[in-house]
Amino acid sequence: MSTEGPARVSDTAISDDEQQFELTVRPTRLADYIGQRQVKENLRVYMKAALNRKEALDHVLLTGPPGLGKTTLANIIAQEMGAVLHSTAGPSIEIPGDLVGQLTNLEKGDVLFIDEIHRLNPAIEEKLYPAMEDYQFDLMIGQGVVARTQKIRLEKFTLIGATTRPGLLTAPLRDRFGITFHLDFYPPEDLEVICKRSAQILQVEIDEEGAHEIAKRSRGTPRIVNRLLRRVRDYAQVDYDGRIKQEVANDALNRMEVDEFGLDERDRKFLLAIIEKFDGGPVGIGTISASIHEEKDSIEEIIEPYLIQIGFLDRTRRGRIATPRAYKHYGITPSSTVKPSLFDSP
Ligand code: ADP
Repeated sequence: MSTEGPARVSDTAISDDEQQFELTVRPTRLADYIGQRQVKENLRVYMKAALNRKEALDHVLLTGPPGLGKTTLANIIAQEMGAVLHSTAGPSIEIPGDLVGQLTNLEKGDVLFIDEIHRLNPAIEEKLYPAMEDYQFDLMIGQGVVARTQKIRLEKFTLIGATTRPGLLTAPLRDRFGITFHLDFYPPEDLEVICKRSAQILQVEIDEEGAHEIAKRSRGTPRIVNRLLRRVRDYAQVDYDGRIKQEVANDALNRMEVDEFGLDERDRKFLLAIIEKFDGGPVGIGTISASIHEEKDSIEEIIEPYLIQIGFLDRTRRGRIATPRAYKHYGITPSSTVKPSLFDSP
């Protein structure tokens, strides 16, 4: 959690309070999982087939930016398969013993969810290969000349791995997942449905326009919809009559400094650095990171994907480039030193 004032809209750190709220609004059945139609349709077929064959579902890899519903989907898969879900995260598995503990706990058909799977230690990752492929684990017993491996048989389980950085996964790990789904940013109409559903759970009155306003400024991300909805509700209750209408949402979001594209002060700082300090780019990620004191990883994981999606940023081999749309958004006229070809596009 950031210590500098209120949490930023795009923060990935989640407070206990928010976590509790997410649990209340998190859909538990596939039918309640909004949007991502293609993913849902394919998943429904794969799950039905596995259930008919009375087999565990193939291992599933879920990729996509934070807050798009990977953990939610893992929970839904376990629920729909009638399986027990065991959750852990890549950085929590520090020694092979941690992994063997998790794996030997699994009953037939259970689901093991590993969040941030790209952060698994390579030595542990290798131990996962035979577990995924042959449902066995090679346990090293003893040390030095008396060391020997003992094969431990595991029940047939489903591994669900989630990652925000699929590019960091090794090929051998990636290849061991029979099913891979990439979650894309949600269009505003899907976010609107999510917003209205959460408002109903929160028992706060919201109209179409109010939901639309929140959806539009949520960076294509369900977690952010829920986060903004809770804050807008505060403004609605304190300064208005408790109902969320467009005017209320608009006023609240402006006061929270979330602009009409859902960009906050962090996006602004990032884009303005490229535009003002580096003449629009191309500029390397390391250089931008040092100049705005923002971790390279959070730039790549949180800030950039959405800016690329809305056409404000280009990622090229020579570095990052702020697009004409970004200049226009911040009301800046490109300087004459910037290559005119960059501004040819409509
Ligand atoms: P991730 O694991 O990708 O970071 P989560 O699964 O934790 O994201 O989702 C964050 C929150 O957003 C969840 O608590 C859930 O309430 C909501 N959410 C995510 N995807 C959906 C969806 N498709 N439909 C409804 N709510 C969703």
